[in-house]
Amino acid sequence: MDIRIGHGYDVHRLAEGLRLVIGGIEIEHTKGCLAHSDGDVAIHAICDAMLGALALGDIGKLFPDTSEEFKGIDSKILLRRVCDIIAEQGYTISNIDCTIALQRPKLRPHIDTMRQTLADVIGFDVDRISIKATTTEHLGFEGEEQGISAHAVALLTR
Ligand SMILES: [Zn+2]
Repeated sequence: MDIRIGHGYDVHRLAEGLRLVIGGIEIEHTKGCLAHSDGDVAIHAICDAMLGALALGDIGKLFPDTSEEFKGIDSKILLRRVCDIIAEQGYTISNIDCTIALQRPKLRPHIDTMRQTLADVIGFDVDRISIKATTTEHLGFEGEEQGISAHAVALLTR
């Protein structure tokens, strides 16, 4: 069996009055992520982890932020496309673990909805995707609420 691991990291700047979309769902907040797409930092990190596992570059290469096609796009569509690419290479996604760093709002009440939403897009069982959230104790850009970051790892098998 061929086992591949990949890591992804993404950051978006926060700005007042924008929609906040994380983990495939919209979350009520006063700020949202500035981005060419919907700015879903968790999905972007997960896509990069999957692409990284197969050394296929990153979502910036696949879905350029200069393209009108991807302006304001729902990142779940990008995730689905990445899953199709992984499948075309003959790989199955074994599991994903993602950590989101932000000060506010509290994500705990939304975590299971995010996991189920992303598991449905990917097409595997919800127990194969872990999403965790952490504050950075008011330290750094996440702690000062200037931005949100996410890390993800993905394990693929063939
Ligand atoms: Zn991003």
